[in-house]
Amino acid sequence: MNGAGARSRAAFRRAQKSLVGGVDSPVRAFGAVGGSPIFFARGVGARLVDVDGRRYLDLVGSWGANLLGNAPPAVVRAVRRAAALGLTFGAPTAAEHELAERIRARAPALERLRFVSSGTEAVMSAVRVARGSTGRSKVIKFAGGYHGHSDGLLARAGSGIATHSLPDSAGVPAAFVGETLVAPYNDADALARLFEAHADQVAAVLVEPVAGNMNVVPPSPGFLHDLGRIAHDHGALVLADEVITGFRLGPGLAHPGLGLRSDLVTLGKVIGGGLPIGAYGGRADLMELVAPKGPVYQAGTLSGNPVVMAAGAAALDELTPATYRRLERTSSEIGRRITSAAQQAGVDAFHLTRVGSMLGLFFGAAPPANFDEALRVDRRAYARFFRAMLSEGVYLPPSPLETAFVSTAFRPSDVGSAGRAAERAFAMVRGGRG
Ligand SMILES: *Cc1c(COP(=O)(O)O)cnc(C)c1O
Repeated sequence: MNGAGARSRAAFRRAQKSLVGGVDSPVRAFGAVGGSPIFFARGVGARLVDVDGRRYLDLVGSWGANLLGNAPPAVVRAVRRAAALGLTFGAPTAAEHELAERIRARAPALERLRFVSSGTEAVMSAVRVARGSTGRSKVIKFAGGYHGHSDGLLARAGSGIATHSLPDSAGVPAAFVGETLVAPYNDADALARLFEAHADQVAAVLVEPVAGNMNVVPPSPGFLHDLGRIAHDHGALVLADEVITGFRLGPGLAHPGLGLRSDLVTLGKVIGGGLPIGAYGGRADLMELVAPKGPVYQAGTLSGNPVVMAAGAAALDELTPATYRRLERTSSEIGRRITSAAQQAGVDAFHLTRVGSMLGLFFGAAPPANFDEALRVDRRAYARFFRAMLSEGVYLPPSPLETAFVSTAFRPSDVGSAGRAAERAFAMVRGGRG
């Protein structure tokens, strides 16, 4: 098995001469799995085609953005139509409230919202609102939770950083991260203790309702409910970061159904239909603090870009209840096939955690419940499995701490291919080859 083809390898060598590390986001460089990254030429449905003409089943889905698979025709049509009318105006267009209305219809917790261009911006801005409204400076996040790369939130921030073994990032003043307190995920008692130690200083608790940046870690029963109660008892706000889970786990937000009461919500990924987007919103009284209505400043030259808005609206229009039901069946079947492939091959130290179309492939003794446990993953086993799957035509996340995403474009035949690939890949891993 030889990893990337000649053209991918050549492209990577050339890219490194002008782009830092040859990539525009670190995990793409394959540092965690070894070898040279695959460069893609195109994608259609559940399939990707690389620059060497090799085909792969896509279980990355652009890190969750491609819920409908690659180049979904309805979204591509909407993008073409919108682009022809003008790429950006820097002035209001109806496309913005049309997407906002679609989101609010299925996610009524967003009484008011604002579009930005990335999830990072969305969370950064929502934190500013929380601080602006409470007059408090600290925030609490959970170890292994990723909320974008803004300065203050790069503390024990999950996959990308853990993969690169940086405790933090260089260039972030200690004082900034000092405003961020970190609690273990799935431990309400630890959260309560942290609140008691910092009484009246915490503006908000940030949480991914289903953690998706330290492998897939579902909330344990009662955890999110307790989190909301503890935060509110201490006068802090709850920021549900649904950049991954929003409109992926169902038509709308995931956290209300999981028992969490939020004040602010962030979205991204799926709602842009594959184009760059983020959104933050929540209680109207909080969001009305944002300029031009209020004193919390936030702006963006390309925010609410009409082409992005059209893509998002077209994507949401495709996401009917029937689509989610089919996605659930497909995801369940893929999860089942991968699990049984591991069992057949006698690979015991493997666990697949699935929440909807989020799959966590974990090489370890027991599925993780928090970041410390997630870090106990057998990285070399994952790297071997990743390379074996690649040679079998399946593109998995190039990191043992990331989530694999299923899209609605998977057909039954694709599910079968994924299952057979997993059977061969586990046999190779067990054989110690690769
Ligand atoms: C991806 C992600 C972000 C950051 O979004 P970007 O668009 O990459 O800036 C924030 N929060 C969560 C939970 C994410 O998964």
